[in-house]
Amino acid sequence: MKRRHMFKIFSAWLAGAVAPVSALAAAFPLQKTKAEWRKLVSPAAYAVLFEHGTERPGSSPLNAEKRPGTYVCVACNLPLFSSAHKYESGTGWPSFFQALPGALGTSTDYKLIYPRTEYHCSRCGGHHGHVFDDGPKPTGQRFCNNGVALAFVPEGQPRPALRT
Ligand SMILES: [Zn+2]
Repeated sequence: MKRRHMFKIFSAWLAGAVAPVSALAAAFPLQKTKAEWRKLVSPAAYAVLFEHGTERPGSSPLNAEKRPGTYVCVACNLPLFSSAHKYESGTGWPSFFQALPGALGTSTDYKLIYPRTEYHCSRCGGHHGHVFDDGPKPTGQRFCNNGVALAFVPEGQPRPALRT
């Protein structure tokens, strides 16, 4: 039984872990080719957002960001998180217990063989991180985000216009 379960998961992995995201890609409001995104974001951000990469833990300056403000998608500028929902998870990645309403979509990936819930920007489809159920109250969720995929806009400063 267990073996069979593993086989099922492995088959799904073989079938292409990113298939669900590709299938969804057509549904994202902001459509750009990979070549276009490559010109618009840094190579490090591109690797995370459009190739499902993961930044080195502890590498993001946003880990230490404590000011009030908003975290936007570095690709399309959609606000994804509020500083009010950020907390120190000790993982080395900026972590939030809640996302802004409608900001994210999710799908399951099998990169580590076992399924994980990947989330992405609901507007451009860029991959941001994974959500786990070991976060603090009140949601119990932990959105583990790659800092390089976010831009921080301090409270009182104008947010960048949504990229079109
Ligand atoms: Zn985006």
